[in-house]
Formats: sequence, structure tokens, C-alpha cells
Amino acid sequence: MGLLDGKRLLVTGVLTDRSIAFAVARVAQEEGAEVVLSSFGRQMKITSTIAKRLPEPAPVIELDVTSEEDLAALEGRVREHVDGLDGVLHSIGFAPKEAMGGNFLNTAWSDVATAVQISAYSLKSLSVAALPLMANGGSVVGLTFDARVAWPVYDWMGVAKAAFESTARYLARDLGPKGVRVNVVSAGPLRTTAATSIPGFETLEGTWGERSPLGWDVTNTEPPARAALALMSDWFPATTGEMIHVDGGFHAMGS
Ligand code: NAD
Repeated sequence: MGLLDGKRLLVTGVLTDRSIAFAVARVAQEEGAEVVLSSFGRQMKITSTIAKRLPEPAPVIELDVTSEEDLAALEGRVREHVDGLDGVLHSIGFAPKEAMGGNFLNTAWSDVATAVQISAYSLKSLSVAALPLMANGGSVVGLTFDARVAWPVYDWMGVAKAAFESTARYLARDLGPKGVRVNVVSAGPLRTTAATSIPGFETLEGTWGERSPLGWDVTNTEPPARAALALMSDWFPATTGEMIHVDGGFHAMGS
């Protein structure tokens, strides 16, 4: 018996097999879930190719979280493959280069706005678009990089993540009465496309392994994936608005 037998999950954010979302989709299938992937624009083709590396074939539907048209079409596109959803993974982040890497004092609002729309507001957009599919309740899980503190080089992406974490708490408030839980997993640094495109990412991953009591492997996306799936299982029935650290214990240590 798998942890997720009978669960129907929408997994956004599979770009490469190093994407955190890829590990989520793979382990979800291994645990008995039915998985629908989403991708957008020119990345649709790449995601479809990468999807073939999963244990089972998974359909890929189109969803650009900034597109009102895609958001309105989401329910119909998902229903072509499954009759509803029990879980939704938000694994989406983007900030223009000008918004990261040490340019904090000079970043233009238009670049900040892009980061906040794609990386934070999209959690609301995705959750609301998927709501009609979760008539019997469900679990929305997002991925963050602990935004309670300021980091080197993360800059406006860190501000967007703070908004993202807050958005999860407000969604937890408004969707709880509908039986939908909303939580985030705060992962340590992982060498994915999104992360390695941050100018100076090495300074973030730097001493993470040494400072974490459990150690940390920047190439292993399975720990945050497992936590996300645990939150989508029936084993966190009374948890919402929470941030769970999957960072080797880094957050709990003083310097
Ligand atoms: P990734 O590059 O593999 O995934 C990022 C995804 O965002 C891509 O699949 C991309 O298609 C998607 N995306 C960007 N703009 C989009 C849009 N407009 N509509 C729909 N999708 C869009 O990198 P990842 O590290 O797996 O990132 C997944 C999540 O994990 C992000 O929220 C990221 O901030 C978070 N996270 C990453 C790390 C890390 O160190 N890698 C640590 C903590 C949290």
C-alpha cells in the first residue's frame, strides 16, 4: 500500500529532472498517486520530454500562472485527465536577474513586480483556479526559501518569498473552511535551474552542509519532495498555514 493511493495530484514546476517538482512527481507515483503535470510556453516541450523519465507516463497541461486565460481553463484541462484533485504542488519561482545578486538598492519596481507576481501572487491564482477541483477538500503545498531573515544575494526574491509565505497563511485562513489545507516547505539550497540562475548562488549553498546538524546534499531534491507529499497525504489532517523546514536543521542553529 502506498502513502498516496487514490490521490490525484497536480504538480507544477517540472522543468528538468533536477527540479524539486520532478522528485515530487516521481515519489508521488511510487506511492500510488495519479499525477498531472503543468508547464508553460516553450517549456511545455521540455517538460513533456522529462515526463518520460517518470515511473509512469504523466500528462502535461499548459499553465502560465500569469495568464488569466490559462487559469480560467485549468479546471477543464485537468478534468481531461482526472475527475478532481486531492493535492496541488506550487513549485514555481522567477525573478529577473536585476532583482537578485546584490542590486537590492537599485532594482526597479517593474522587476520586483514580476518577481512578486510569479513567485508569490501565483500561489493565490493557482489555489483559486484549482478550488473547483477540490470539492471534497485538498492540500496545497508550496516551496519556499525561509524568508524570515535576509540572505546574501537573494534580494527581491527573498521579499517575494516573504510575500509567498504570508499568502499561504491568508489562503489557509480563507480555504480552511472549504477543507483545503495550505502549507509551505522551506527547503535548503538545491542546484536546480532556478537556483543556479541566481547570481552568486554559491554564497547561499556555501557552508550549509557544515552548519546543518543532519548535513545537506545540494543535489538531492528528495527530502523536500517527501515532506511535500507527506503534507498531501492523510497524515497532516489538522495542519495548515505552516512552514516546515527541510534544510538539514540549518534554521535551528546559531552561528
Ligand atoms: P526549477 O527551475 O526546476 O523550477 C522552477 C519552475 O518555475 C520551472 O519549472 C518554471 O517552468 C516555473 N515557472 C516560472 N515561471 C512560471 C510561470 N509564469 N508559470 C508557470 N510556471 C512558471 O527550480 P526549483 O528549485 O525546483 O524551484 C521550484 C520552487 O522551489 C521555486 O518556488 C523555488 O523558489 C523553490 N525553492 C528552491 C530552492 C533551491 O535551492 N532550488 C530552495 C527553496 C525553495
